[in-house]
Amino acid sequence: MSFGSSTAPVHVVYVGGFGRSGSTLLERILGAIPGWANVGELVDLPRSVWPQDELCGCGERFSACPLWLEVGEIAFGGWSEDTMNHLADLRIGVARQRHLPALLALASGRARASHLAQVRDYQQAYGRIYQAVAQASGASVVVDASKGPAHGLALAAAPDPSFVTDRGYGMSMVNLVRDPRGVAYSWSRRTGSRPQAGATNTEMWTISPTRSAAQWAALQTEMQLVARPIESHRVRYEDLVAHPRATVRGLLERLGLAAVDGGLDHLEEHAVTLTSSHGLSGNPSRFRNGRIDLELDEQWARDLPAGERRTVTALTLPWLTAYGYDVRPRPSASTSGNPQGSGAAQRTEHPS
Ligand SMILES: [Zn+2]
Repeated sequence: MSFGSSTAPVHVVYVGGFGRSGSTLLERILGAIPGWANVGELVDLPRSVWPQDELCGCGERFSACPLWLEVGEIAFGGWSEDTMNHLADLRIGVARQRHLPALLALASGRARASHLAQVRDYQQAYGRIYQAVAQASGASVVVDASKGPAHGLALAAAPDPSFVTDRGYGMSMVNLVRDPRGVAYSWSRRTGSRPQAGATNTEMWTISPTRSAAQWAALQTEMQLVARPIESHRVRYEDLVAHPRATVRGLLERLGLAAVDGGLDHLEEHAVTLTSSHGLSGNPSRFRNGRIDLELDEQWARDLPAGERRTVTALTLPWLTAYGYDVRPRPSASTSGNPQGSGAAQRTEHPS
């Protein structure tokens, strides 16, 4: 099932996947296409962006960002604690991981009336935001990199066409995946602070490789379940880094969405050119602008301890083979001498 934009004024591209897989990069690349706008991880708006008054991708605090001020005005007559509490309560009520079975039933046309009403409320609240973003930015496609499969399904599910009409947006689902060994290595390292942060929530978290692999496998299982009722398009982070333009062009074709002539000029082989956007939350790389060399971060292939590497490989083996990852890769010579913190590394995009 897919939900085209023909019956809705705004089309949303939802990026689902595990953390440290490059979703901020993909979201910014897509948001730089003319007529597209990226909003970052919108799920964090009531969770951390509003309570902590975090930095927007444009460098302003959320409360001072001109775009988000206008969006709040259009959508709700201004942002307020009541609005944020309402968004947070709706998410807790229908869009958490534990709600996935009920959401899958709803997407298949089997739902309780009360659950249908809650999901409809959630979608209409988000629809106000998506439509306001489109109006304020002049975009017709909005990219939301909130990542969670259940949250994505809660926003995309449409048991009947009236859901799409009433919420005012169509939605496509993209599943961004990265080699889980690279993901595990990234989560195991302390990578510094979140530039977005307010007084708290300042550190990037760490997770052990085994836990990361188990969570990665669980999330991919959820994404596969979501992909039954909602058409989902997989993108490998490694392909995005190596061939940004071809990968994005291929994705747009699969989504049935076109870029204007020259709309992908910001993408080269192994490099992208990005300006600041109004994306919220996400990776610290959100604040890196200009021409950015993209280099596959294969440090894990050298530095992830052998025992942990075997464990992560074993826990994720079905997906490694299904997604075309080498079960026993060797680091390439070109990436073996790229120390973190060097000038070269700072110019290079890392999803960590
Ligand atoms: Zn902003």
